[in-house]
Amino acid sequence: MAGSRVADALERDLDVMWSRVSAKAWPPPEAAEQAAYAAGDHALAAVVDWSAAERHPHVRGRLEEATAALGEEPADLSMAPGGLLRYGWATAYLARRGVVPAAPLLDEIDEAVLDVATRYGASLGSDDLVDMGTYLRERLPAPTAARALDVVLEGIERAAIPLGRGLGWPSLRNPLADEAGADPGATVLDAGLAHGFPRVTALLVGLCDEGIPVDALLHSSTTGMSDLAATGAPAPFYQDRGRGPEPIRPARIADGWCHGALGFGLTLLRGSRALGREDDAERAIELLRGWVSAAREPEDDPFASIGLCHGAAGRAQILARVAALCDDRCFASEAQRWRRVLADRLAAGRRDRDGGSFYQGIPGAALALATAAGADPSWDRLLLLS
Ligand SMILES: [Zn+2]
Repeated sequence: MAGSRVADALERDLDVMWSRVSAKAWPPPEAAEQAAYAAGDHALAAVVDWSAAERHPHVRGRLEEATAALGEEPADLSMAPGGLLRYGWATAYLARRGVVPAAPLLDEIDEAVLDVATRYGASLGSDDLVDMGTYLRERLPAPTAARALDVVLEGIERAAIPLGRGLGWPSLRNPLADEAGADPGATVLDAGLAHGFPRVTALLVGLCDEGIPVDALLHSSTTGMSDLAATGAPAPFYQDRGRGPEPIRPARIADGWCHGALGFGLTLLRGSRALGREDDAERAIELLRGWVSAAREPEDDPFASIGLCHGAAGRAQILARVAALCDDRCFASEAQRWRRVLADRLAAGRRDRDGGSFYQGIPGAALALATAAGADPSWDRLLLLS
């Protein structure tokens, strides 16, 4: 759909990205920020390769590179670039779809997740636990993964704090919240999908889809989100000084997947629908309608980036998911509008500072456009959008 100029631009950018991966240019001299290609990003590159172009023979090569890189690069058990969960997610995702065989390394990652979750439990915090759950979802029904998932869910439950009549999850202190004046003694809650408590609801909906019985926890997390939404459009952060959540609105933050009404609204909608709570679903749709009508014209948007995190690709993908869940046609046309914005920006040579990263750059843009052109959209499970 994107037209040949966009297709050509994407093809060129993806080739550059992969040549850096293969050459292990570390860091590329012109942009240190683009040096995020340790093993995990090799593997995500394979997902892009498969989903964007369906060139399966290439995918296997990328994953072999990723596995080899794991032997050379220090890897930790995280979703960060180079992290084992990032590598593991992409490999498990592709293996589950029959694109590549399941690597034996995945069994070791399952064991490691079980071990770490058992030893450290709730003290890991919801952000890390949800990362583990996101990986384990792709590994089901592997027995060790299923056991690890039980431990992860226990940890998530233990890490919860009251939010409204339901539950929420505290965040690590965030510099943006601190800059905006968060009280040093307060508990901070991040309301975004990048690191915030809505991630718990999003993970639980995904697990419901896999047949895992998590209704009670999903009920509590969705209630917490709904009660917060009843106080107005979600702020990026809240602080609780013992009197309930108060909004914190840092000046420089963009609405999208990472923060704001879009990711929050889709997640509340998904949670409400999974529980059959139509009043809460309607509240989420109102929130999203409010975002659509208040959204700035793209060229006036100071955060007019291309990426999944808070740019045109992420906005298009989220709005397409909303459109599939409700009757209001405004969401489908808004998704289409953001795809056009994305295509125009790419054709004009627009790149983010962090142009090679999955979350902010070309790979995410490629996936969003490929999805619009009919490719399997389920790669957005990594973003907890489906
Ligand atoms: Zn962002």
